Amino acid sequence: MSAQIIDGKLLSQQLRTEVKERAARLTERGNRPGLCVILVGADPASQVYVRNKVAACEECGFYSVLEKYDADFTQEQLLERIRVRNNDPDIHGILVQLPLPKHINAQAIIGAIAAEKDVDGFHISNAGGLMTGNPLFRPCTPYGVMKMLESINYPIRGANAVVVGASNIVGKPQAMLLLQAGATITICNSKTRDLGSHTRNADILVVATGIRNIVTADMVKPGAVVIDVGMNRDPEGKLCGDVDYSATREVAGYITPVPGGVGPMTITMLLVNTIEAAERVANHAGVVH
Ligand code: NAP
Repeated sequence: MSAQIIDGKLLSQQLRTEVKERAARLTERGNRPGLCVILVGADPASQVYVRNKVAACEECGFYSVLEKYDADFTQEQLLERIRVRNNDPDIHGILVQLPLPKHINAQAIIGAIAAEKDVDGFHISNAGGLMTGNPLFRPCTPYGVMKMLESINYPIRGANAVVVGASNIVGKPQAMLLLQAGATITICNSKTRDLGSHTRNADILVVATGIRNIVTADMVKPGAVVIDVGMNRDPEGKLCGDVDYSATREVAGYITPVPGGVGPMTITMLLVNTIEAAERVANHAGVVH
């Protein structure tokens, strides 16, 4: 039997409707949520991402600012822009689009963002908060994956979860979120021997490597939930994930498509993080949302 599709587009729309309502309530009380997106350089994919992020903010009634700088913008100039936005009361979230040009130290930049405005959840204090179970923000992509599992009421507690990929922005935080939800986790990386021996144990399999077809149907336990975070191009130039989708959907219980799966959830969770940041500020100022 074919797997049930977890439709990230549909779930995103539902979540964005809620975000829009929360934004309207905050705006009525003079606390319109605000996001500042900073892009350095002209990487074509980054330009598309930031455009989509700003458009999503506008759709939800947020105040949004896009700061664009040439590739030769210096680290010191960028740090200064972050200082300005850290102190800007109209801005609740700051996102610096990655990757940054090579002459800029991304960790130094992320570390300069005020932790309470770090809506990407990449600041070391949010990463540490995630590790100890109480982050201000969860990184958007893994947070979106958790929402997808919640949408199918998947019993995560006690499940075997395997995360293929161990990056700071997807794999590691994903594993932490699954662990906190009660799963037994395995994290695989490029040195993992016999990947299939791990993935075949997974009740929940999250794949985030950027390698097309790294997971094939024979590597999936029948009935498993397969979440494909990867974004690649096939030989015809069509967007595809890391999982051999057509064969794997005949084995899995649930599967996410690419496109239309995790991708739309990532931007949605950025909106959720920004609204949470704005609500925190509003509540702190004695405004009840
Ligand atoms: P990344 O920083 O390049 O990390 C890739 C990870 O995969 C690394 O941990 C690497 O291991 C691991 N890996 C490589 N080969 C492997 C193998 N043969 N077996 C097991 N693990 C292997 O990538 P990322 O930023 O996490 O992104 C991963 C993918 O997700 C990309 O396609 C990216 O475009 C996509 N993505 C999608 C969204 C979305 O919204 N849908 C968001 C973010 C990322 P090592 O640690 O050993 O190098």
